[in-house]
Amino acid sequence: MGGETQIKKTSSSFPKISAGPVGQQIHDIYKGRLGTFQDGGQYASENLQSKMYEGTASGEDYIKLSVYSPPDLTRPTFKEATSQEFRETHVGEWFGPSWSTHWIKIHLKVPSELQKKEHLELHWDAHNEGLIWTEDGVPLQGLTGNGERKEWILPNDFRDGKFHTFYIEMACNGMFGNAPGGDSIQPPDPNKYFQLTQAEIVAVNLEARQLYIDFWIIGDAAKEFPENSWESHKALQLCNKIINTFTIGDGSQESIVECRKLAQEYVGDVNSSKVYDTNKEHLIYAIGNCHIDTCWLWPWDETKRKIARSWSNQCDLIDRYPEHRFVASQAQQFKWLEQLYPPLFDRVKSKIKEGTFQTIGGSWVEHDTNMPSGESLSRQFLYGQRFFESRFGERCRTFWLPDTFGYSTQLPQLTRLAGMSRFFTQKISWNNINNFPHTTFRWVSLDNSQVLCHMAPANTYTADAHFGDVSRSLSQNKSMDQDATGILAFGKGDGGGGPTFEMLEKLRRCRGMSDTVGLLPRVKMGDSVEDFFDRLEKKAKDGTDFVTWYGELYLELHRGTYTTQANNKWNNRKSEIMLHDLEYLATLATLKDSSYKYPKSDIDDIWENTLLCQFHDCLPGSCIEMCYDDSDKLYEYGFKTGKKLMKDALSVLDFSDYKSGGRWLTAVNTLPWPRAEIVELPESWQLRDSKYALVQGDSGAIDVKVLFAKDAKSTASIKEVKKGVFQLSNDHYKVEVEQGTITSLIDLVENREIIAQGEKANQLVIFDDKPLYWQAWDVEVYHVETRKVLSSSESRIVEKGPHKVSLMTETKISEKSWVKTTISLVASIEDQPSYIEMTSEVEWRENMKFLKVEFPVDIVNTEASYETQYGIIRRPTHYNTSWDMAKFEVCCHKWADLSENGYGVSIINDSKYGFATSGNMMRLSLLRAPKAPDSHADMGRHHIRYAILPHRGPLDSRTVRTARNFNHPMKIYCHPSPTSASSPFSAITLHGSPALILDTIKRGEDDEDVSRGDLPTRKGRSIIVRIYESLGGRARGTIKTTLGVKKVWKTNLLEDDGEVMVIKDGEVRIELRAFEVATFRLQL
Ligand SMILES: [Zn+2]
Repeated sequence: MGGETQIKKTSSSFPKISAGPVGQQIHDIYKGRLGTFQDGGQYASENLQSKMYEGTASGEDYIKLSVYSPPDLTRPTFKEATSQEFRETHVGEWFGPSWSTHWIKIHLKVPSELQKKEHLELHWDAHNEGLIWTEDGVPLQGLTGNGERKEWILPNDFRDGKFHTFYIEMACNGMFGNAPGGDSIQPPDPNKYFQLTQAEIVAVNLEARQLYIDFWIIGDAAKEFPENSWESHKALQLCNKIINTFTIGDGSQESIVECRKLAQEYVGDVNSSKVYDTNKEHLIYAIGNCHIDTCWLWPWDETKRKIARSWSNQCDLIDRYPEHRFVASQAQQFKWLEQLYPPLFDRVKSKIKEGTFQTIGGSWVEHDTNMPSGESLSRQFLYGQRFFESRFGERCRTFWLPDTFGYSTQLPQLTRLAGMSRFFTQKISWNNINNFPHTTFRWVSLDNSQVLCHMAPANTYTADAHFGDVSRSLSQNKSMDQDATGILAFGKGDGGGGPTFEMLEKLRRCRGMSDTVGLLPRVKMGDSVEDFFDRLEKKAKDGTDFVTWYGELYLELHRGTYTTQANNKWNNRKSEIMLHDLEYLATLATLKDSSYKYPKSDIDDIWENTLLCQFHDCLPGSCIEMCYDDSDKLYEYGFKTGKKLMKDALSVLDFSDYKSGGRWLTAVNTLPWPRAEIVELPESWQLRDSKYALVQGDSGAIDVKVLFAKDAKSTASIKEVKKGVFQLSNDHYKVEVEQGTITSLIDLVENREIIAQGEKANQLVIFDDKPLYWQAWDVEVYHVETRKVLSSSESRIVEKGPHKVSLMTETKISEKSWVKTTISLVASIEDQPSYIEMTSEVEWRENMKFLKVEFPVDIVNTEASYETQYGIIRRPTHYNTSWDMAKFEVCCHKWADLSENGYGVSIINDSKYGFATSGNMMRLSLLRAPKAPDSHADMGRHHIRYAILPHRGPLDSRTVRTARNFNHPMKIYCHPSPTSASSPFSAITLHGSPALILDTIKRGEDDEDVSRGDLPTRKGRSIIVRIYESLGGRARGTIKTTLGVKKVWKTNLLEDDGEVMVIKDGEVRIELRAFEVATFRLQL
């Protein structure tokens, strides 16, 4: 027997008897229940929706409306509009047609029962875009129809029981223009009308509105967090509890307050920006933006208003949400705002100063990067950065192109030269073949320059700031080995006005949730894009090896944009070439005659217009027709002004029009190398026996020797060797042509056939062109399977030599479309490359067809070469991998080349950008016929020049220079003294490696006699000289000058002085690395 043991009694609060059955929740049903609490529809009158407003007032007693409708789709200013007669109008009236403007004058009185309510708004929905103005002409805030953004918070002084007046400038277009039906890329319907369906004073129940957003985000957590996460289960239980609390409390205000307390268990206190003050490390940088396409589905004049609407919204939101940061790019848009909305510009400027509204991008517009020339890209940065610096005291640090259709290989170099080291985009996520493998990486140029690149992992730049956007900003980050942070670029795009208050509220909850329950990546507002990249740059400095990507960021989509809207592309090329010549000649004129004023302001206007037209929907051809009416006018103005300015500069240099009867014919070669060409004489100088002249000499002024048939040493000849078969020949080539196609092209020196056996070059072919959706944008991989050969009539001789021979062929495409092609061969000139030139006139009236011209050449290589900005890009000619195949249509500039060891063929063009090389088949893309968004795209007459340039040996400076010559035809003038004509041109010359191209000569931006006064001037005069290495290897040269140059600096694109160069006896020795772009400033 042992001792007595005290048994310890245990007690439990757990009831002994079951109170009844409890089942496991059936999640699908409970998740489905969430919608019944906050959605519209059959329960709206009972659920949270019914509690959103404490009262409303509408009708004539409180809101009196009158309207002025300007005639002829004009867009008058506030002053012009408000001085007009207004007529009465009312809710329910329809306004239109498309693109018309209606100024609505509003007299508004808050009824006494609403005057004491916490929060009053005007709710306005006319299903189109609008801008609210104060009675005295201050723009306040934009509105977007269809409920996208319909609220305006009434000022407190409206609560006085009196009528107050303000205006709404109504624009009859939606956020995405005026497409009929639901397909926004269809051509606009000119007759759309918009009904004003709501004009109402609303007292908002702010607690209910907040609960609505709490519930939305927690509900998303319940639905989108993984099923097996406790965070998902907790969210669902909480939502259910909120519904029950609200329901049991009969939706009373007390129950709403109670529900919000429950929500706090999950999202924390989200009633202020303090939610971001926990200083816990965050992964997602949320940045507001609104991506206003400078033109697209609406004309430029509407863009100007979209800017005012959107940016005024953001100023207002920044005032209400101190954590909010908003970025805007495109100097052009700021310039418009400055010109058209000075008070709003000042408001934006003050926000920029406080750091909440942030400038980004550093370029004139968010431009295309495939087609603009190297100099154009340089000018996008020069004009962009100078604008930002002059207006806001700071340059941009991040190049920002979220939407542009692919990114040229030289951008990292140019970005660095423009003072930026970062690049942001997301467009490559649109690839429809391969998934781009990186999110944050080092992007490396042809010359080895690099930038830090980040692509928004959420794969959008207009996120709605949903729970899922935040979540995907981490889960879709492909560079987490190096860094897990990501930018979430959110806000309604394209005039929708950017971020909404709802988005900012949602983000507060997402952040609060991360700090309270976790799992969702922590998002932060209040940091800038620069803060994001500063951290990455520091990581790189501290040893993080970000992955590299060499070469272009080719977009595997939108390949039709190299061809669509041919006229616009022609204008772009011609404008670039004209500006080159104009700046060069005007610079020389200022050196010759100090009384001549460098036409800086006109040149700037032409450049700014050209840069504007390079906007990423304009130059690519993806705009509606109205935009091309706009751009045609700008180009026309540029060509007209440029022609006059060129004449002025030439006259300072003593060149005059041949008509004015100067004694000596002299040609002007604006390219920096010697040329020898047979040039057609101006018509009034042509004699029966002399139509041509041999223009041979150095750069600048060149002798013109009129050619007479009798003393032709080298000749071109033509004969019909067989019925319908013609042979054209000169000392270089023997060309056989049958029905407009080249069946044989023999290099006589090499004794080599260039056309692949049995094939035909200069063969016009047509393809069916129906991409999956984006008509103007895309040509799809299967189009090649619909190849149809266009047959032609017999050719006929139109010119017989001895200096030039030509053969003309007509090709019928359809009942309405035809091509007239002239094949010409000019007598060869010793040591000069000779080419076969094609000049086409096309009448194009097709429907969803693609016209190309083929060159099957007897050359073997797995890679072809294409001219790109300041260099050469090589791309596969095969389809080994899906990455190779994706490049079935690519962008080229003035030439494309296929070469093998010892021999090659270049195809040169004067205005085209689309090309494809498949095996030995080279195809130049000529014209497309998409019907959306411009149903008339490319319909009508076109003039196209291209040429076949065969060459012995590798691709080298002969192709680069010949293509340049082809695009800069020499012009013949009169000059009083041929011996002195050339002296101004010797002012600055480049010598040395033929790979070096002297690309631009212009005056210094800030020279005191040139400056427009935007930025501090520099004393004296200076010349800017831009040179690049064009072939891909180290190259040496010498800049020679006859000017009294005091000092020479190597500068960046922004003309900031860098390395001091040694100048000795007027010579500066330079050395460039492969594909380097180098700018020098010569101080006189
Ligand atoms: Zn865009």
